[in-house]
Amino acid sequence: MDDAGEAIVVALAASLDHARLRANVPLAPLTTFRIGGPADALYDATSGDDLANAVTAARRAGIPWMVLGLGANVLVGDRGVRGLVIRNATGGMVFDDASVTVDSGVIVRDLIRASIARDLSGLEHFVGIPSTVGGALWQNLHFLSPAPERDRTMFIADVVESVDLLLPNGTRTRVRGREMGFGYDTSRLHDSGEIALSAMFRLERGERMHLDRIAQENLSWRGARHPWLEIHPSAGSIFKKIEGVGAGRLIDQCGLKGHRIGGAQVSHLHANIIVNGGGATAAEVRALIEHLQATVLAKLGHHLEQEIAFVGEF
Ligand SMILES: Cc1cc2nc3c(=O)[nH]c(=O)nc-3n(C[C@H](O)[C@H](O)[C@H](O)COP(=O)(O)OP(=O)(O)OC[C@H]3O[C@@H](n4cnc5c(N)ncnc54)[C@H](O)[C@@H]3O)c2cc1C
Repeated sequence: MDDAGEAIVVALAASLDHARLRANVPLAPLTTFRIGGPADALYDATSGDDLANAVTAARRAGIPWMVLGLGANVLVGDRGVRGLVIRNATGGMVFDDASVTVDSGVIVRDLIRASIARDLSGLEHFVGIPSTVGGALWQNLHFLSPAPERDRTMFIADVVESVDLLLPNGTRTRVRGREMGFGYDTSRLHDSGEIALSAMFRLERGERMHLDRIAQENLSWRGARHPWLEIHPSAGSIFKKIEGVGAGRLIDQCGLKGHRIGGAQVSHLHANIIVNGGGATAAEVRALIEHLQATVLAKLGHHLEQEIAFVGEF
């Protein structure tokens, strides 16, 4: 494995800034679960062109690659990821009246702060969700607002004007939001081999104090119902929503709240969240996921569909 990492660094040395290209980098600290083995090689991409260049260089060299945002929706295998992991550390953000164009590595929290500071509304609902813009587009970031007057699921798709994509053939194109194939927990990025380089969001004029209040309400709602990430590392909801039933409720009905396999534990606060209770391995999380699926199917007849992505070797 060590040799593989060094070989990748050598193969890409002419194409990528070597100061940001490293062999054998532990991925656990780069995920919210704090779980997973090393990447053979890791590259920090700091601009849209840099990100596109890294993907293209890996493709040309025949090196497997993946783009990583905040690692908030992935479980990295204990044996790590073969090939090149490109960490999206791009951060450009340009406001123009009520719209904003951002690099896909911009952290959604920073985008919300900057938008509210300019009295712009549309993104404040997603406060408290760890995500880059790229990850948000990939999964169509969503949030069911607790406030009665906003009693519907808000999707990032609602405010996406356009997205600049890197295509598998190395060319770039701009698509409209409606061409992104957004659905619940999905977008065209899942299957297309395309990478989101940047996005334009269309916002509306709002009133800063009102937007701050919505953000605060949502944060408090989350704080009371979800395990705190700083203390209980997780990847958020493990299973997709089951309309009108609730994956968490099914797990709870089976008496599995708090159930533990090794260091992996079903959260006492929210049964659709598995937390790393200390030193959990990816294998333990996977075993717990399989146990929850098998039990809920056997006892209640519902199939729990996994929401998070398994990445690398387990
Ligand atoms: C505590 C907690 C709470 C959460 N709450 C919610 C919630 O309320 N609603 C919700 O929707 N999600 C929630 N999530 C899940 C997670 O925050 C989202 O899925 C988020 O969008 C992941 O973004 P990321 O940058 O971490 O993506 P990563 O996990 O790094 O990547 C996820 C996938 O996206 C791909 N990807 C990343 N960037 C790009 C790009 N630029 N182009 C193409 N593909 C890309 C990656 O290759 C990977 O396959 C929660 C997670 C946690 C830990």
